[in-house]
Amino acid sequence: MIIVLKKNAGEKEVDNIRKKVETLGLGIHVSKGEERTIIGVIGDESIIRNQPLAALPCVEKVMPILKPYKLVSREFKPENSVIDLDGVAIGGNKIAVIAGPCSVESADSLLEIATGVQQAGATCLRGGAFKPRTSPYAFQGLGEEGLKYLAEARQKTGLKVITELMDPRDTELLVKYADVIQIGARNMQNFRLLTEVGQHKKPVLLKRGMSSTIKELLMSAEYIMSQGNYNVILCERGIRTFEDYTRNTLDLSAIPVIKELSHLPVVVDPSHAVGRWELVLPMTKAAIAAGADGLMIEVHNDPGNALSDGTQSLLPAKFANLMNEIKTVAAAVGREI
Ligand code: PEP
Ligand code: MN
Repeated sequence: MIIVLKKNAGEKEVDNIRKKVETLGLGIHVSKGEERTIIGVIGDESIIRNQPLAALPCVEKVMPILKPYKLVSREFKPENSVIDLDGVAIGGNKIAVIAGPCSVESADSLLEIATGVQQAGATCLRGGAFKPRTSPYAFQGLGEEGLKYLAEARQKTGLKVITELMDPRDTELLVKYADVIQIGARNMQNFRLLTEVGQHKKPVLLKRGMSSTIKELLMSAEYIMSQGNYNVILCERGIRTFEDYTRNTLDLSAIPVIKELSHLPVVVDPSHAVGRWELVLPMTKAAIAAGADGLMIEVHNDPGNALSDGTQSLLPAKFANLMNEIKTVAAAVGREI
């Protein structure tokens, strides 16, 4: 059960509810959002079902939520969430385009790519400084040096910066440098990491695990939100199936399904889904047609020599072409790019 307090409710009102709930042998979890405070009741809800909590003057509504994810659900918030990155919105009518290299490799190449994607219309720059690589011998990322290059590129281009956090010990560093913290597919169920980013207000882009169900993705988002961070963006990046022609299989139906179940914005990453640059454009079009709120696309100035994911990376000119081609699809579904 969730108790949503009115905007003007303060500590006194929360304490009052805490006492009432605790006398019944239940616990509470208080989430203080920028807008309002939400109290989650922990324990056997049936004990409290007949208590007239909704009649308290500080209470806006009391919601029994049957689904295991609550703060994430459409029942909890019927209107779409828009995550504001200080001037760039993810989740509104305009489709947000995030583009950049898989890994940050050098200051010069990052700036060249960032300038290219910005001129083509992207509003956010992606680039990994801490890379989750299958092989321990593969390039692991530049660490803090990479974060500094991202910050420099932001300063020169005005793009917002998205980069991946793999280790809770690096959280403060990422909070300092990034506009959005990415939690990668391999860490979607790293609950310690989710709890950690939940304790900050920094927006989080949560990627779906390659073998995770939509429900599991939503439960992971609930971990972050239950800590008080409501700035969550979900990302479909392809799942593992028997098909091996593509790197993964882009689960297009996840887009309308998530939008039915949740108010959170959905970004689609066609690059990691298909693993081949030639397939990025058609799947980007399909993602827009299916209702994606944003796109994450890998772009590299020299894909043949990229330190990671060159085969799925578009040259800046190809990315510019993609940006042109998707306009008509966006317009056909009433969206803007
Ligand atoms: C990435 O976006 O850099 C990445 C590693 O993607 P994923 O976690 O989806 O594999
Ligand atoms: Mn990559």
